[in-house]
Amino acid sequence: MKDYIIVGAGLSGTTLAYRFEKAGRSFVVFDDGSQEASRVAGGFMNPVILKRFTLAWKADEHLEKAYAFYSDMEMHLGKQFLSPLEIYRRFYSVEEQNDWFSATDNPRVAPFLDPQLVPQLNEHIPGKYSFGKVLKTSRIDPRYMLDSYAEHLREKGWLQNESFEYDDLKVSASKVTYQNISARNVIFCEGFGLLKNPFFNYLPLKGNKGEYIIIKAPRLKLEVGVKSSVFIFPAGDDHYAVGATYNNTDKTPGPTTEAREDLVKKLKDLINVEFEVVDQVAGLRPSTIDRRPLVGRHPEYNNLYTCNGFGSRGILIAPSISEELLNFIEEGKNLDPETDISRFTQKWYKRN
Ligand SMILES: Cc1cc2nc3c(=O)[nH]c(=O)nc-3n(C[C@H](O)[C@H](O)[C@H](O)COP(=O)(O)OP(=O)(O)OC[C@H]3O[C@@H](n4cnc5c(N)ncnc54)[C@H](O)[C@@H]3O)c2cc1C
Repeated sequence: MKDYIIVGAGLSGTTLAYRFEKAGRSFVVFDDGSQEASRVAGGFMNPVILKRFTLAWKADEHLEKAYAFYSDMEMHLGKQFLSPLEIYRRFYSVEEQNDWFSATDNPRVAPFLDPQLVPQLNEHIPGKYSFGKVLKTSRIDPRYMLDSYAEHLREKGWLQNESFEYDDLKVSASKVTYQNISARNVIFCEGFGLLKNPFFNYLPLKGNKGEYIIIKAPRLKLEVGVKSSVFIFPAGDDHYAVGATYNNTDKTPGPTTEAREDLVKKLKDLINVEFEVVDQVAGLRPSTIDRRPLVGRHPEYNNLYTCNGFGSRGILIAPSISEELLNFIEEGKNLDPETDISRFTQKWYKRN
C-alpha cells in the first residue's frame, strides 16, 4: 500500500513528490508528457508584476519559500539549476519612471525595486528613458530541474512514464486501487490536462497559452533579463529566449506562426542587432477564473485531491502550495480559502 499516487510531474507534481520524499512517505508518480507548461517556463522567481510595478499575489512570502525549497532540492540531487538573474524593466516615458518611484513608497514592493535608475544597459538595447532594476530575482532552469528529479524518481522506481487512465481508478472509503497499485490517496497535478479528469473537470480552469522563441544573436552579449513589450533573457552560448505570449483563446499545444511573428516584431523594437530564430516552444498555463490556484479535496471522495491552477507563476508558488496541501492532508491544517477548491463546490460541482 502506497501513501500517495501523484498524477503529473510538472512543477506541481514534482514539488509535491519532493515534499513527500522528504517526509518519508511512499508514492508513485505518473507522467505521460502530454503537457509542457512547466518545461517551457521561463523559470523566473520575480515577485514584481512588471506592467504595473505591483507585487504578485503573496509573492514576498512565496519567494522566500521557493528559494529555500529549490536550494534544498539542488543539494539533495547534487545538481545546480538555480542561479541569480538580474531583471531590468525598460521605461517608455517619464510617467513610467514616476510610477516606478511611486511604487517604492509601498513597503511591500519597495524591497524589490531599485530606486536608482540605470541610464544604459547594453549598447544594443536603446533606452531613452532608462531602466529600472528588480531586486532579489533569480531563475531556475525548469527543464533541467524536472529532468533531474525525474531521473532520481526513475532510479528509485517511483516514476511511471505513462498516462494515468481514469477509468481504471477504483475509489473506496479507505483506499484507492489503480491497476495493481493500492494507495491511501491520489493527488491530481495534470496542469491544463485536468480538463480530461472526470473527478475534477468541473473546476473552472481556463488555460492560457504561452510561447517563447529562441534566438541566436552573437553580437548582443546580454547577461541579464530585460522586460519591454517583450521579455528577453540569456539562454547560453549566444542564445536568448524571447517571450512569452499570452493567449486565452488558442488551446492547441504546439507553437504558432502568429506568436513567432508577434515576438519577432516586438523584439525588433527592443534590440538593434541582427538575430536568427532557431527554435520555438509553447505550453498551456493552467490559469483559473479568479487567478488563484485550485487546491484541495474532492467534494465527495475524501482520498482524491488536486493541486493545480498555478497560472503564470508556478515556479514561485509551487513550493508554498505543495506545503499547504501536505499540511492539510496530513495534519488537518486549513487551506488558504483563496486557494481551496471548496470555493467552487456550491456553484460548479454536480453531485453524483
Ligand atoms: C511560455 C510559458 C512561460 C512561463 N514562465 C513562467 C515563469 O517564468 N515563472 C513562473 O513562475 N511560471 C511560468 N509559467 C507558468 C508555469 O509554467 C505554470 O504555472 C506551471 O508550469 C504549471 O505547472 P503544473 O505542474 O500545474 O502543470 P504542467 O506543467 O502542465 O504539468 C502537468 C503534468 O501532468 C502530466 N499529465 C497530464 N495529464 C496526465 C495523465 N492523464 N497521465 C499522466 N500524466 C499526465 C503532463 O505530462 C505534465 O507533465 C510559464 C508558462 C508558460 C507556458
